[in-house]
Amino acid sequence: MNSISTKDEIKTLNDLCFQIPKSELHVHLEGTLDPEMIFKIAERNNAIENLPSNFKSLESIKKSYNYKNLEEFLEIYYLASKVLLKEEDFSEIVMNYFKKVLNHGVKYAEMFFDPQSHTRRGIKLETIIKGLLIGLKISEERYGIKGNLILCFLRDLSEEDAIKTFQNFLELKELKIVEDSLLEKIIGVGLDSSEIGNPPDKFKNVFKLAKEKGFKLCCHCHDEGSLENIRKSVEELNVDRIDHGIDIYLDENLLNKCVDKRIPYTFCPLSTKKVQRTPDLKVYNLDGLLEKDLLVTVNSDDPAFF
Ligand SMILES: [Zn+2]
Repeated sequence: MNSISTKDEIKTLNDLCFQIPKSELHVHLEGTLDPEMIFKIAERNNAIENLPSNFKSLESIKKSYNYKNLEEFLEIYYLASKVLLKEEDFSEIVMNYFKKVLNHGVKYAEMFFDPQSHTRRGIKLETIIKGLLIGLKISEERYGIKGNLILCFLRDLSEEDAIKTFQNFLELKELKIVEDSLLEKIIGVGLDSSEIGNPPDKFKNVFKLAKEKGFKLCCHCHDEGSLENIRKSVEELNVDRIDHGIDIYLDENLLNKCVDKRIPYTFCPLSTKKVQRTPDLKVYNLDGLLEKDLLVTVNSDDPAFF
């Protein structure tokens, strides 16, 4: 009898988890590319031949979604996003994501995108932005979920490259490539990708520029030594939000400062575990942080990969 009641309890808990209304604040659109979608888009673009050997079939793509650390994960992640070539491909990732999370109770999603990972492959920024915003418009109407976008800079590239990307984006805004209300859906800038050796202060000028232009600022602080990166993001970049930031429990003073400034943290437990940042999530003491009044949310990061 015990086992039956436990199963029932799990089923009820599972149903409850699905039904609770949710805000997703930390999800990378490129990280929602599941193997089925990669294969479908590659086929549509007649690009299967251009895929690397471990991406030639659906089965081999599935097998390659396996990594020991952040660097290994990023390698597969960038490989996967190479299938995105046309406006409709970018629209489709938003629509596919909204379709999936409709049944997970998501009511609002703030989604990152990495323009430089596509522009450096020769894709025009206009194609990326237009595709994503049109996809977002269709998705909001179709699924009744609200969404906004955050333009992320790749921290392993130079600040000069980030500034160029941001200025290109501002020019496209001026040109009104889509209606104003849609362009306003890009509400902030972020910093992601390879963290070690690429601290937040490397991007001081582009973040200052974005703040002046009215954008919200956030920064990933996740890898080894991220506590110092949290400090720099808060004190030097004046960010509005820390993404991940799980090491904040190590510094009481900095933690209190974030509580006072109401700086939220977007934790992503599953990705933290999968890139083996920690064997045991309990060390981060989520309950304790909430008790101290730190604003912590739980998010999915790159759901197709984790
Ligand atoms: Zn992330």
